[in-house]
Amino acid sequence: MSHPRGPLSQLRRGHEELVLGLLRKHGPLSRGELGKHCGLSRTTLYDILADLVSSGAVVTATAQEAPRGRGRPAETLTLNPDAGQAIGIDFARRGLHVAAVNLAHEIVGSASEPHAADLPWEQRVALAERLVGSLTGTGSGALRLGALSAIGVGVVGPVNGPAGDPAEEAGVDRGDGDVREAVPHPVQTLLRERFGVPVLIDNNTRLAALGEAIWGAAAGGRDVLYLRLSHGVGGGLVVGGSLHRGAYGLSGEFGHITVEPDGARCDCGGTGCLETVASIRAVLDAYRAAGGRAGDVRELVKAVEAGDASALTLLDGVGTRIGEMLAALCNAIGPSVIVIGGELAETGDALAEPIERALRDHVMPVSRHRVSLRRATLGEVAGALGGIALVLHESPLLSRYPAGPDLAIEDLMNP
Ligand SMILES: [Zn+2]
Repeated sequence: MSHPRGPLSQLRRGHEELVLGLLRKHGPLSRGELGKHCGLSRTTLYDILADLVSSGAVVTATAQEAPRGRGRPAETLTLNPDAGQAIGIDFARRGLHVAAVNLAHEIVGSASEPHAADLPWEQRVALAERLVGSLTGTGSGALRLGALSAIGVGVVGPVNGPAGDPAEEAGVDRGDGDVREAVPHPVQTLLRERFGVPVLIDNNTRLAALGEAIWGAAAGGRDVLYLRLSHGVGGGLVVGGSLHRGAYGLSGEFGHITVEPDGARCDCGGTGCLETVASIRAVLDAYRAAGGRAGDVRELVKAVEAGDASALTLLDGVGTRIGEMLAALCNAIGPSVIVIGGELAETGDALAEPIERALRDHVMPVSRHRVSLRRATLGEVAGALGGIALVLHESPLLSRYPAGPDLAIEDLMNP
């Protein structure tokens, strides 16, 4: 189903989505029933169905209950449960996460593998191919990729310009009258060579925000702020059900909002950014400076659980800075849900309580009870799921949906 993407093929892909959506909603249907539901001409419908059957997306079956002696039993069409529709890949700094959905939009599997931070792109893509292979496999019930429509990819750092596939969207007019060549990210070119489908790309933390807004802690929320407290501090905004990228792909850089005007220098060149206070390194350094002993977040969590006073005092201060900043963002954006993710969220209430307190103290009083603070639920696979959401939202039929309604996330979280 990989057609070039002019207006006519967009229309064709829209027709395919329409037919797949009807089979997803109604289950097996005959050609006649599909015709009644979809309103396409018989010629167009039969043409679309021939393609869907040959790609393996749709399979035919003969209805068993057709009454005998009344002509040929009707042949019905149904989604192929083993056909993969979309893959999400998160190329994080130190590891790779993949997830896949079938045509019923059920998560059929996910996999992760850590790697060195300096692993070259060619080797990361080879690793991605191997992990996707572990989802597809060869045994019965294994996912087949004949119906793969696109891959959604998350990468570290700013992603500028169109999120779409550059091979198909070169020279996009961005509305400012300045038509520029879209420069593909190396991973887009490499993945396209290996899988032969469009590769959509965005910042992986922003994609995690989209994942949490669709299937995670903020499921169904149309206005969601996601903050990730990890080696870096970043986040993402879902506004009116859509991921907000910003004019230069720089939306969601919450880690570089100044929270201590006389604070430490930040890697970004600024001073006193939230990242100098609330990143893993900043928190562990401050804890050790206060006499504590923790080599990593796990050991800090242990200290917190043991009631270590200097750890609790430190996190109270860090949480207060975070909450004050979130209050300012709330006044600007008006989210209904704030989701806190990343390894530092594992410190639990020691961090969440001061965040909540400072947020309530500083947000405009009328908003005080209108925003819900929650901990992220999707874990490290959030970015890969966001990549899938990117693919589903970019498809013509789903692009205007506020949220993906029917992904069976439970299967993934409770295998
Ligand atoms: Zn900074």
